[in-house]
Amino acid sequence: MYVKGIGPVKADIISEDLGLKKVEDLLFTYPFRYVDKSFITAIKNIVPTDSVQLRGIIISKKIIKGQRQSRLTAMLKDGSGMIELVWFKGVKWIEKSIELNKEYVVYGKPNAYKGKYNIAHPEIELTEENAGLKSNYEPVYSNSERASKMGFDNKLRRKIIKQALTHVNISSIPETLPQYLVEKLQLIKRYEAIQWIHFPNDTSQLNKAKARIKFEEVFYFQLKLLYSKNERRYKYKGHSFDSIGNYFNKYYKEKLPFELTGAQKRVIKEIRSDLGSDQQMNRLLQGDVGSGKTMVGLLSMLIAIDNGYQALMMAPTEILAQQHHKSITESLKGMGINIAFLSGSVKGKVRNEILRLLKSGDLHILIGTHAVFEDPVVFDNLGLAIIDEQHRFGVMQRAKLWKKGKEKPPHILVMTATPIPRTLSMTLYGDLDVSVIDEMPPGRKEIKTLHKRDKHRPQLIEFMHDQIKKGRQIYIVYPLIEESAKLDLADLQQGYDRLLQYFPAPDYKISVVHGRMKPKDKDIEMQRFAKGSTQIMVATTVIEVGVNVPNATLMIIENTERFGLSQLHQLRGRVGRGGEQSYCILMTGHKLSKEARFRIKTMCETNDGFKIAEADLELRGPGDIEGTRQSGGLEFNLFNIMEDQNILSSGRQIALAILNKDPLLEHAENVILKKVVQSLNDGKINLGRIS
Ligand code: ADP
Ligand code: MG
Repeated sequence: MYVKGIGPVKADIISEDLGLKKVEDLLFTYPFRYVDKSFITAIKNIVPTDSVQLRGIIISKKIIKGQRQSRLTAMLKDGSGMIELVWFKGVKWIEKSIELNKEYVVYGKPNAYKGKYNIAHPEIELTEENAGLKSNYEPVYSNSERASKMGFDNKLRRKIIKQALTHVNISSIPETLPQYLVEKLQLIKRYEAIQWIHFPNDTSQLNKAKARIKFEEVFYFQLKLLYSKNERRYKYKGHSFDSIGNYFNKYYKEKLPFELTGAQKRVIKEIRSDLGSDQQMNRLLQGDVGSGKTMVGLLSMLIAIDNGYQALMMAPTEILAQQHHKSITESLKGMGINIAFLSGSVKGKVRNEILRLLKSGDLHILIGTHAVFEDPVVFDNLGLAIIDEQHRFGVMQRAKLWKKGKEKPPHILVMTATPIPRTLSMTLYGDLDVSVIDEMPPGRKEIKTLHKRDKHRPQLIEFMHDQIKKGRQIYIVYPLIEESAKLDLADLQQGYDRLLQYFPAPDYKISVVHGRMKPKDKDIEMQRFAKGSTQIMVATTVIEVGVNVPNATLMIIENTERFGLSQLHQLRGRVGRGGEQSYCILMTGHKLSKEARFRIKTMCETNDGFKIAEADLELRGPGDIEGTRQSGGLEFNLFNIMEDQNILSSGRQIALAILNKDPLLEHAENVILKKVVQSLNDGKINLGRIS
């Protein structure tokens, strides 16, 4: 960055900490907040609520040496009173920069301390410097401690941006939307938006700038997603699985353990027609817990094998992947299909042998955890990849998988039980075709969900005895949160010891599974429970997804208040998988937060995964979205998925409408759209880089 006052060392720090390399980067990194400079609070009117803006003269300053660290205090005086300003960091540098008896504008949050107010680490700025800027809204940018200490603060940053903006016009910040869209949507021009987002004169300008930038981010995100889909469809061919051959037919006629539900049949038809066309399938299969997605996956894999291709099934946890491996191996016994299991815990010779067989084409099906995506895992000819129970398998992850194909990308089927709220699915899965299993296998009874407290334990124990007498099995789940992992484990141990009193050996057998166990040991315990050798399974949430033991009819969740909604729904889905009446008991302590009560109420009221997903998003809000961001699915500067849902759907609608008429953006009026779309990376919307 070549700017007066920023030498190479500072430039390095700024680039390292804030990712700002060029002046343009400053222009396209937006303020996270604005200070309304038109409103000044008199010091005597300060109340300890939000941040305030003060204007006064700094009449004294001193550094007070402390034992561990020094602090800087300064007195700010206006016509109404005085207040102390305090700094604990960057003390020397700030002390040097404060000029006594000059007027400052000060912004910060007042704290009451010993009957007086002070403000720690306020933003301060000389009034005269400030006077040159007309705007009432002063932008505030996020900064790093280091950068601000060496003088790259809001003040300097505003100055640089202000200066850069004086040269800005339509040719330096060219339009990125076609004229017809700008007009139709009554948006402001891009270069105006950039000016106004930094220095709006009033709220109306600020809102217009935000509207334009947010729309653009969302619109291009959707356009990129849908355009890439079209491009794949038109340009790149997929494998065509033309024959429904021996494996499929033999299994279907001779081995299918039950009649498929109507929904399963419909979905398999949809998948078959995708696989049989010469276009690559990218399909999302949604079906609530227990709706029978695994069978759909299995049949799809048989189609791939019938056509001479290999198939892959990935599950997010070791236990689930193991379970799929066991059950699928069992189902396909005697059919001459070679199946292997791969996870991080498969090592050495065994691993090498699997990789060899995979590459030579001798393996038909690989089942495993994320480990199957690693580079050394090379297929001979991967035709179909199934991703099970992956709620966050975004564009980026799929792109990685496409590369596992040889000449053509494999067909992809993503299976999920957690119905994703529409907003999320539009962004994460906006380019997928969707199949839905909206019907449960016959004979299923609705799971009865009840909320109970400690005082009900005696009845609960009795009820457990009851279920076991009927030959059923029981899960008891304890929360496990990383920071308090030890404590939680102690909880589980205690619960287990207590159980032993009521369910003593040798009449009763209890399994224990938790995250600290070796995968192998976990698996042994899981298998004992699955086979019915043990009646009770005490576990942490490792059994959360996918695990299938139809004979289990009672799910007891301890410390329910510590689980999220979608997690609870997943856990509950471990029972109710056979024909018997199943129960889910939510145990809690006595005191519950409002939120916890809402979660429990939702669980007791409904079994509908969609309703639960909506309630969950409502509750967790942006916290959840963070996770989404980390998964590499989304990257927006200004757009906020929670607040801007309207913009999201209108952006998607408009992108869809444009591509409907012009699937590959070849019309003259869409030249600009194509240029922008092609300059964007998958999953990353950084419109600052476009020029
Ligand atoms: P999920 O959709 O949660 O992955 P699974 O595929 O694990 O569900 O199926 C849940 C249970 O229902 C399994 O025990 C499975 O064998 C059984 N199942 C699946 N489809 C049917 C069907 N059409 N009829 C009867 N049982 C079925
Ligand atoms: Mg499943």
